Amino acid sequence: MTGRWVVHLDLDSFFASAEQLTRPTLRGRPVLVGGLGPRGIVAGASGEAKAFGARSAMPMAQARRACPTAVALPPRTAVYRTLSESFFAVVRAAAPVLEQVAYDETFAEPAVLAGADADAVRAWAEGVRAQVREATGLAVSVGAGSGKQVAKIASGLAKPDGVHVVAHGGERALLDPLPVRSLWGIGPVAETALARAGVTTIASFAAMPAPEVTALLGSAVGGALHRLAQGLDDRAVTERGEAKQVSAETTFDTDLSDVAGVRRAVADLATSAHRRLVASQRAARTVTVKVRGGDFVTHTRSETSTVASTDLPALTAVAQRLAVEALPDAGVRLVGVSYAGLTTAVQGTLFDSTEPAVEEPSAPDVGIAEEDPTPTPERPWRTGDDAAHPVHGHGWVQGAGHGRVTVRFETRSTGPGRAHTFAVDDPELTRADPLVSLT
Ligand SMILES: [Mg+2]
Repeated sequence: MTGRWVVHLDLDSFFASAEQLTRPTLRGRPVLVGGLGPRGIVAGASGEAKAFGARSAMPMAQARRACPTAVALPPRTAVYRTLSESFFAVVRAAAPVLEQVAYDETFAEPAVLAGADADAVRAWAEGVRAQVREATGLAVSVGAGSGKQVAKIASGLAKPDGVHVVAHGGERALLDPLPVRSLWGIGPVAETALARAGVTTIASFAAMPAPEVTALLGSAVGGALHRLAQGLDDRAVTERGEAKQVSAETTFDTDLSDVAGVRRAVADLATSAHRRLVASQRAARTVTVKVRGGDFVTHTRSETSTVASTDLPALTAVAQRLAVEALPDAGVRLVGVSYAGLTTAVQGTLFDSTEPAVEEPSAPDVGIAEEDPTPTPERPWRTGDDAAHPVHGHGWVQGAGHGRVTVRFETRSTGPGRAHTFAVDDPELTRADPLVSLT
C-alpha cells in the first residue's frame, strides 16, 4: 500500500516517568513501580533502573536485587490515568482515529500524512511529541512506517525520547536481522516449530517457501505471518472494540492435589488477568474461577459485586476463595480466572488496596502483600502514599516503620523537596489526593 504511514506512539517508561515527574527527588534515579510484597511484579521501571537490567513483568524481588539503589513504589493509577487522558487528548487532536494498545501506547494513521515523504512524517512526529511534553511533562517516542508491525518496532528503536521513521522500501532491512519471535503473532510454540526447521531470523522465515510455512503453522496464521515477515502489512488502524471479559488459565503438567498449590496458581492467574484488565483501563464486577479436575469435569464458581474493582489483592482473594470452593477430589488439571462485568467507570484506584471494592481479602496470603505494616488503627502509612501537612504541604511517604513515617514534601512544580519524619499518629499528617502531586 504505497504512501501509507502508520505511527506508533509510546510514552517512555510511563509509570516510572509519572513518579519522577510528580516526585522530583526521583528524577535521574532508578525507580521501580509495582507490587511491593514478596510476590510483587514490576509494572514499570525507569530508564535508570532498566540500565541495571530491571524491566516490567519481572518479579519485584529480582528487580530489586538487580538494582538495589532503586526506589520501589506502588502504582498510583489515578495519576497515570490523568496523564494518559492528557496524552490521548493531544494525540487524538492530531490523528482522530486511534488504535489504543495500552494506557501509554497507540497506533494512528494520520490522514494528513497519506502520501507524505519521510521528512514530513518526522516533522509531524516531532510536533506531536512537543505537544505531549507540553501537556503532560512526559516523553513519548514515535515510530513510523508502512504498517503497524514496522511502526511498533520503530518506536522501540526511537527510545528514549526520539523518533524513528522507516522509509518506504526499508521494511526488509529493518525486519530481516531480527529474531523471528519479534514478529507479531509468533509465540513460543511457533518459535520452537520454526527453530526446529532451522528458522530463527525474520529473514530466514521470509525466505521459506509458502507451502512449508503452511505445513508448519497452518494456512490461515502461517500465511499472514509470512506476509508480515516479508514486510507486507496492510492491517488497518481501527478503534478497538471492547472485550466482554479478560481471563487467564493454565493447565498443569501433573494434576495439583494440594490447596496451597492451587491458591498460588490462582494468584498468578488473577495477576495476569489483572494486567489485561488494567491495560484496557477497566474495572471488573464479576470474578469467575474455572477448575477442571483430573476426571475432566469442570467446576465453575462466580461472584459479582455491586461495585467494579481493579483492586488486585481483593480480586485475588475472591478468586482464591472460589477456587477452594470448587476444588474437586480428583486433583486439579486446569484452573482459570476471568474478570467480567467490565466497566470503564473505575472506582477507587487501580492496584491500590486502600479501599477494597469487592470485599475484604478473606485470607492473609494474597498475591501481593503490603509492606511496612505499622500500628495505626485505621490503615498504616505505606511507602508511596500521598500525604499532606499544614506547614510542609503535599508530599509522599518515603518509608514507614517502628512508629515513624518519613515524608518527602514535593510536587511536580516544586522541584526536589525536603524530607521530615513524624510519629505515625501525628494528627497534622493526613492522607492526600494523589492528583495534587501533578500540580
Ligand atoms: Mg510505554
